[in-house]
Order: sequence, then C-alpha cells, then structure tokens
Amino acid sequence: MPGFELFGPEEKQEVADVMEHGFTFRYNFDQMRNGRWKTREMEQLLCEKMGVKHAHLLSSGTAALQTALAAAGIGAGDEVIVPPFTFVASVEALVLAGAVPVFAEIDETLCLSPEGIEAAITPRTKAVNLVHMCGSMGKIDQIKALCDKHNLVLLEDACQAIGGSYHGKALGAIGDVGCYSFDSVKTITCGEGGAVISNNDDIYKNAHMFSDHGHDHIGNDRGAETHPIMGLNFRISEMNAALGLAQLRKLDTIIDIQRKNKKLLKDAMADIAEVSFREIPDEAGDNASFLSFMLPTEARTQEISKKLAANGVDGCFYWYVNNWHYLKNWQHIQHMHSAAALPITLIADRPDYTKVSVPKSDDIMSRTISMAIKLSWTDAQIADRIANIKKAFAQ
Ligand SMILES: *Cc1c(COP(=O)(O)O)cnc(C)c1O
Repeated sequence: MPGFELFGPEEKQEVADVMEHGFTFRYNFDQMRNGRWKTREMEQLLCEKMGVKHAHLLSSGTAALQTALAAAGIGAGDEVIVPPFTFVASVEALVLAGAVPVFAEIDETLCLSPEGIEAAITPRTKAVNLVHMCGSMGKIDQIKALCDKHNLVLLEDACQAIGGSYHGKALGAIGDVGCYSFDSVKTITCGEGGAVISNNDDIYKNAHMFSDHGHDHIGNDRGAETHPIMGLNFRISEMNAALGLAQLRKLDTIIDIQRKNKKLLKDAMADIAEVSFREIPDEAGDNASFLSFMLPTEARTQEISKKLAANGVDGCFYWYVNNWHYLKNWQHIQHMHSAAALPITLIADRPDYTKVSVPKSDDIMSRTISMAIKLSWTDAQIADRIANIKKAFAQ
C-alpha cells in the first residue's frame, strides 16, 4: 500500500532540486525558481496518467474533498450521499461546507450500492460521494446512471484507489470530479498532499481559485490578480510536489508489485472454504492495496481477527470495531461535536446521526477483514505469511 516503502534517490533528487535551484511557492516568483515548477509538472503528469483534462494539487486529500465540493457548487443545505464505511474526512468536508451528509448502504464491493443510493435520494440531494474504499471500485455503471438520471454530481473519492481503473478509465476520472490523497501512508505520497481532477473547465477553475484565496491565476503579477470568489489556502508546496512527482513516476511499478503480492495471497486463501472475497466489478482495475475478505459470521470474524494477529499476520484491519473507518464508532460525528457552531445546526430537519440505520452495511462490515498489501515483502515473507494465515484458520 504505501509508496514510502520505495523512497530512494529519485525522491531525494527532486526535493534537492527545489532546495538548490527552486523556490517553495507553487506560483509566480519566476526569477527565483530557475525554471523549477514541480507542482505544475506533477499536475501535468497526473493529467496524462489519469486521462483527464485538469489536475490541481492541494495540501491534502481532505483539502481536495473540500475544494471539490466548493468547485462543484455544493454548499449550504445540499444533501450529499455518503457511505458509513469511509474515512472521517468524507463527512467532515461535507459538514464544514455546510452540506448535509446522508448515509446510505454499501454492498459487497465495500462501496455505496446503487440500491442504497437510490433509497437515500430526496429532492435536496445534490451529489453522491462515491468512496472507492481500500483500492477498488463500486458498481460504477449503475451509480453513474443513477446520478445522470437524478442530475446529481458524482464525486469520486479515490484517495485510497489511485492507480486503479474501471474498464480502462482511471478511478477518479469517471465522475464529475475526483479526489486523491498523497498523505504519508497512501499509495503514493507527497508527505502531505492531495489533488482534484476533472474534465470540467468550470470545476477546475473554481478549484484552483477556491484553494488559493480566490486568485484568478491570470498573468504573472500575483498582486494584480483579481479574486472572482472567496477561498482559503489549500496550496501544496513545491517541496511536497517534488516528492510526489518522483512517487507518481513510480505509480505503475507500485501497482504492479501490489497486484503480484495480492494475487499470491488471494490464490492461497481461495481454498479456505469459509472465506469469500470482496466483490470487485472490474478485477483488472483493482489497485490491490488491500486484500479484503469476508467470513460467514461476526463471531467467527472476531475470532479470525485475533488469530491472525496471534500468528504474526500483521496489517489486518477489522474496520467494524476500530474507530477509524466506520460510522458506528464515530461518536463525535454522530453527535456533530465541533469547536464552534456548525452550519448544519441551523437545519431543523437534519438527520439524527445517532440513529443512522444501515443494517446491510453493519452485516457486511462485521464480517470483513482487510489485509494491507506491502511493497517490500520478499517471496519468503509472503510464503511465511501464507503459512501463518493457514495456521490461523486451522486453529
Ligand atoms: C486518506 C483519505 C482522505 C483524506 O486524505 P488526507 O490527505 O489524509 O487529508 C479522504 N478520503 C479517504 C477515503 C481517505 O482514505
């Protein structure tokens, strides 16, 4: 999963280039930067790799979500459909944009299900935040058709799925706007960073303005620029983009290694009768950062989770009980705790987030374990891991 495992001379060289010849601000200062434009270079490469018209780098994946929402015109009172299995940023970005999260069911793809989305649509629904969890995709064709039918913005949170694709199209590049994260543990990293990608000119324009105090970025005198909209500062620095540029050049290699390692584990586990695997609508497009599998019951999943750990099989996540990725465990979100009054409190008929009922998702997540796939495993370590997995299941 994490690109930091492949840090090498390439990353050092790019960062050193900024230190020795460049400048840390992404815009302007032409005379000081000696032709070094790491952010632009990475944006260009992202466009090429993802087959999109526009890419805009940001300071984090969370900043990318917040920017994508603003850029797509999602704000006060707009309902956005989100999965209960995701990273908290999916919800935080919405709430802080003044929007109203509406939780819908996932299916065995571990992503929002078309039926779940359909059941959650109301006249106030403005968008669907389709989070491609743990490296692969939901039922994109049906979800996209639903969004088209109901005139909803399709936001793809591909923060965990960069390098994945669906029938040849990059995850993140299929909906109206897509988001990536380049934080320290993601498939590729900038240290901290993120990106918004889109084929829509207006969304791109809003995104680069919103993330830099509304600057129009026309001409080369920053002080003379106009500010068509208000925004914030979600800029990435050249240092972070330099690191990310070297990492992005390694993306294909990283995905190849993940796929190879994952296949060995998945093939080995395929003959364990009680194990079934996460549904992957386009298996060839899996970014393979995780191997997610299901067991028949919650009790057995708890047991296997403990046995895997006891047998030294590390990096296994039982999301249902940890407080990172599942709504059930997010007291602060259920109660909308914040440091200051939130816009959502002005909406009298907002959902009661302490009473969200997602039985299908509970059933799936209570039986799901995800194993992170590492890049640095040797063949011997994978063989050991397989032996230890078999031991855990046999006990
Ligand atoms: C990591 C992640 C984010 C947020 O990215 P940061 O760069 O850590 O802010 C958002 N959504 C998902 C699904 C993520 O995994």
